[in-house]
Amino acid sequence: MVRTRFAPSPTGFVHIGSLRTALFSFLFARHENGKHVLRIEDTDQNRYVEGAVENLLKVMNNLGVEFDEGYFLQPDGNMMERGEKGPYLQSKRLDKYQAAAKKLVQEQKAYYCFCSSERLEELRKEQAALKRPAMYDKHCKKLTTQEVEQKLLEFSESGKKPVVRFAIPESGATVVNDLVHGEITYEHKVLDDQVILKSDGFPTYHLAVVVDDHEMEITHVIRGDEWLPSTPKHILIYKALGWEPTLYAHLPLILNPDKSKLSKRQGDVAVEDFLSKGYLKEALINFVAFLGWNPKSEKELFSLTELIQDFDLKKINKSGAVFDTNKLDWYNSHYIRQMNLSELTNKLLPYWLKYWEERQIQFDKTALPHEYFERIAEIERERLKKLSEIGERTAYFFVRPNYEPNLLIWKKSDSQKTKEVLNNLIEFFEKLDSASFTKIILEERLKNFISENNYDNGTVLWPLRTSLTGLEKSPGPYEVISLLAFGLGKQEISERIKAAIERL
Ligand code: GLU
Repeated sequence: MVRTRFAPSPTGFVHIGSLRTALFSFLFARHENGKHVLRIEDTDQNRYVEGAVENLLKVMNNLGVEFDEGYFLQPDGNMMERGEKGPYLQSKRLDKYQAAAKKLVQEQKAYYCFCSSERLEELRKEQAALKRPAMYDKHCKKLTTQEVEQKLLEFSESGKKPVVRFAIPESGATVVNDLVHGEITYEHKVLDDQVILKSDGFPTYHLAVVVDDHEMEITHVIRGDEWLPSTPKHILIYKALGWEPTLYAHLPLILNPDKSKLSKRQGDVAVEDFLSKGYLKEALINFVAFLGWNPKSEKELFSLTELIQDFDLKKINKSGAVFDTNKLDWYNSHYIRQMNLSELTNKLLPYWLKYWEERQIQFDKTALPHEYFERIAEIERERLKKLSEIGERTAYFFVRPNYEPNLLIWKKSDSQKTKEVLNNLIEFFEKLDSASFTKIILEERLKNFISENNYDNGTVLWPLRTSLTGLEKSPGPYEVISLLAFGLGKQEISERIKAAIERL
């Protein structure tokens, strides 16, 4: 049975690259009717961030990326562990790593290293001066059994502990047969004798990942390209422990549109920030699925279920995947247009509230019918790229707009003419009965008004619309008038026109 895992280090926000890794391993597991495991890699205690796992689970739940084993968020916000191959938190598995390291030392596949940090620093400097890659010089590997005994004694007397290093075979090569990249050969002489157990008894990533992937019976490791150079070391550790290595699929780098490596700064890449800006989960999932994968057909729109159906490791690209937010906006607009009105309105409400709160915009919200919000949402549905735009785009539907007087003047008109037109419009609207404030009737009446007065369209419709919206671009005047009259009363139209005349 296929078993995949997502193995994040809980160091803060969820990077878009992590979401991609989690999504791909989930899609593959579901496509193969396998299991998806969540394992938390917290062996680097210095980088551990409180609350990071809960946050991760919340984001994954929100997006529909599921796990079958590992940690689960309960309704009360607490986490629960579930699964037969646990514990799923590396800091609870120290005995397993220590046992593996001990076995490797006993079989001389790993060795104690007593080198001081000063010596290692010296070594690094010498290598840097010679422009050689920084690598351990295997100094402690050459110690005799007696010397090792002696050093262990000295260390234990002074309350210190040595680290354990893995002994990379001195000659030969290891071939990584990656499901995305194919065969890659690594000469052993370029691989470092990495520390696998630290002096505090914690493993490093390299040992922990192998022990856990083996014990959790992971069949396919799907992870980012940055781990490809570590893979030969992992394969060698597997073999040294007498285990069969898993299969590997390394996902291509994610790049900015200029082909530089995608930033790590939270503001640009945090999944939770994309969600709070009002990107829909459908859009994010569809977009992220295409970061390095495509169905090899024209089809671009995929639901999560369709992704599960069509996902295939063979269709993962080797070359970097460009992170293009325009494309994300395109997906988001698409899924916003697909939403039914009441669902969209409910999703927009918190964004409206937030906008008003932040700007201390005050008015009596309870006086407005829910239908008013729905009709505004309907007008904006075609244009919205993200939900967070709603506040600014529609502020004029709730409070009188503020704008530069010049905005009122149509390019082929002037201040004098504009004033005259606006005055006539006040009279026009005052005569208009309430039932005529529908888009169709307004259009007909206003067209008559324009031709009767020998005006041209721009001279009338431009100042009319800008006096109501305060915006250079907005939905058309008939739509805006009928909706404002519905929500705030027809008197509001005349009031705004009067305010415009005062500005001129
Ligand atoms: N803990 C590693 C990370 O945070 C996981 C690497 C792997 O999947 O092997 O990316």
